Amino acid sequence: MSAHSSPDTARHSDQTYSAFQQTVSECLIRHRSILDVLSKFQEASARVNRAVAKAVTTCGCIQVDASKPQIPADISYWEIKQHMATHVKGEMCEHCVEVLEQEIGRALFYLAGLCDVFGLDLDRLVEDERKRIATLGVFNLT
Ligand SMILES: [Zn+2]
Repeated sequence: MSAHSSPDTARHSDQTYSAFQQTVSECLIRHRSILDVLSKFQEASARVNRAVAKAVTTCGCIQVDASKPQIPADISYWEIKQHMATHVKGEMCEHCVEVLEQEIGRALFYLAGLCDVFGLDLDRLVEDERKRIATLGVFNLT
């Protein structure tokens, strides 16, 4: 949980994603074509990237300081996390957090819209993915 989360945002009911998908389905009228949904989803994802970039290059509240991680050869796989960095220096200001949250929300809107076009249940997808990564653990993304 980040410092910006309130108790309300930390709560999650079992129906959050279903309710969200239902609302998106009701609102997705003008851009219901799969071509619109896919291209809008991609645009929204790019805007998430842009929000982070603008926090660095326009606002300056955060910096990116990246370098190759120095991982000692004699540590276990489980200790590697201690040597890995996000490369983000500083803390995003309130304005940039607000913009980033809006852009992530917009990306979620079109992700839910994509599920809706194909009759997929976003709530079930999230739960299936949660179970999958819980089972695979750290091997999930290797
Ligand atoms: Zn900022």
